[in-house]
Amino acid sequence: MRTISILGATGSVGTSTLDLVEREPERFCIEALTAYSDVDGLAAAAKRTSAKVAVIGDERRYEALKDALSGTGIEAAAGTHAVIDAAARGADWTMAAIVGLAGLEPTMAALSCGKSVALANKESLVSAGSIMIRSAESAGARLLPVDSEHNAVFQCYEPEPGRVSRIILTASGGPFRTWSREQMRTVTPAQAVKHPNWSMGAKISVDSATMMNKGLELIEAHHLFPIGADKLEVLVHPQSVVHSMVEYIDGSVLAQLGSPDMRVPIAHALAYPERMETPCQRLDLAAIGTLTFEAPDFDRFPALALAKDALTAGGARPAVLNAANETAVAAFLAGEVGFLDIAAIVAEVLAQYEPDAPKTLSEVVAIDAEARHKAASVMRRIAA
Ligand code: NAD
Ligand code: MG
Repeated sequence: MRTISILGATGSVGTSTLDLVEREPERFCIEALTAYSDVDGLAAAAKRTSAKVAVIGDERRYEALKDALSGTGIEAAAGTHAVIDAAARGADWTMAAIVGLAGLEPTMAALSCGKSVALANKESLVSAGSIMIRSAESAGARLLPVDSEHNAVFQCYEPEPGRVSRIILTASGGPFRTWSREQMRTVTPAQAVKHPNWSMGAKISVDSATMMNKGLELIEAHHLFPIGADKLEVLVHPQSVVHSMVEYIDGSVLAQLGSPDMRVPIAHALAYPERMETPCQRLDLAAIGTLTFEAPDFDRFPALALAKDALTAGGARPAVLNAANETAVAAFLAGEVGFLDIAAIVAEVLAQYEPDAPKTLSEVVAIDAEARHKAASVMRRIAA
């Protein structure tokens, strides 16, 4: 019996993880579940799974959570620190599925326990980079990639130095793959969150639409598979069937394929190094018929170019990029800035703010806060 904690249990990845865990109650039991504000979703999941503890990030929701769990014997807690404490309970396997840099400290707390951490929360790895990798290594924790592309690479990757010549991350291209910049100018949040192949949270859906998501994934891949930034490539593949590829020095290319359902990579990480059954649709290539590939367009999708540059420059650039992007995406979703403003805001913050490379977690947090502050002032200027 393995103990499981899910950070971000009410989100898209969190509920997919719960779906798998709940199918095998004799194999998995829930230690902690966390969410930010959805008390009903959190309490229902905690009751269904007889979780030991349920934590709500928003302290104002504490009484509501306590009421919802009264008489169940499930411990209720609230606040940012309680989320970190839940992560530090040291479950055998923790899903890090909080969205954005809010997931950084909980993910680091889980890693410090030296167990398995399934990483969906790419923003934390993008910002903290080698600080996160080093602390995972020193704690003896196993970082399991859940992002579908990185999970695909993980399944195809031989870590011995000098073997891999290229990693090719596939990208669906998002809902505006074929649109002109002029057409993208008037994109609404509702249009941007409607992804052609995947059903995901709002923030990552917008990132997919700007292709910043693929840029963040390049940086994520750089830390998970350290073969050199110049050996990482993006290939647009609208069907989302080939989830990524690894090319070896002998010319062999290994790929992982599957239906676009996050439960496939999550199940891989959950059962690793074994396998588990899932109810996911089986891949029917004859029915699909054609798989197509095209080069990414860095002019129509400048966010991808910004992230690629941040990867090459290294240091604090990825943390600044991520913070500015999170701020701009939140403003876009709130109707405060336009779709094309997102990459423009990120570019301007990167031009304005060039801090030294962070050496500690608190330096990452400080750089993130300052970059958000700068993004907010750029946005005020755009609005005025
Ligand atoms: P989501 O918005 O659906 O869910 C986010 C979860 O985080 C929720 O449970 C929410 O309550 C919690 N949360 C949000 N802010 C918080 C805070 N301040 N403190 C504590 N908890 C907070 O997001 P998602 O689509 O499930 O994505 C989660 C992460 O996984 C993201 O980093 C995303 O990039 C990554 N990811 C998602 C998918 C996908 O298919 N959805 C695929 C690959 C990677
Ligand atoms: Mg992905």
